Amino acid sequence: MLIETGIPTAEDLQSVTPPAGRLARGAVAIAECFQKIPCNPCTRACPRHAIRIEPDINETPQIDYEACTGCGACIARCPGLAIFVVDMTYSDSEALVMLAFEFLPVPEAGQLACGLDREGKELGWFPVVRVVSGGKENKTYTVSLAVPRELAMEVRNIRAGGYQNGKQNG
Ligand code: SF4
Ligand code: SF4
Repeated sequence: MLIETGIPTAEDLQSVTPPAGRLARGAVAIAECFQKIPCNPCTRACPRHAIRIEPDINETPQIDYEACTGCGACIARCPGLAIFVVDMTYSDSEALVMLAFEFLPVPEAGQLACGLDREGKELGWFPVVRVVSGGKENKTYTVSLAVPRELAMEVRNIRAGGYQNGKQNG
């Protein structure tokens, strides 16, 4: 149960997963934010106003998947590190997963990073495609990993310090 383990159930995840048709069209945000807490910076972070929390701040966010462009601007603004962007159209065999990262050192583009699932289990080594700083007053980075398409909904973290140079070894 989420409240005891911190790990969402399959039903929890189903409730925040964009429709298959939308995923097939390109990058889109997924808010794995399940607890009703007074929080809303994600709503102000989105230039498309695609994230809404209604009728009050205690509700969980709803993303308008049609309005979302998958830009990733909301990722580093979420204090719960709960927002991801998944691009299933990245290549024929890989999806791009954009996630928030707050540990040091930060991985670098061109390295391989050890991807973890929601329980912290290692899923393999995946190319770091892009690393974007949160800016002067935000130490959260947005890291983009190219992962096999079948792991697009599994890879949700990076092992701190789990970086290496070289070719993907899966
Ligand atoms: S990815 Fe971009 S467009 Fe989509 S919800 Fe986040 S900020 Fe808005
Ligand atoms: S900012 Fe993050 S934790 Fe807060 S409501 Fe939005 S998605 Fe949830």
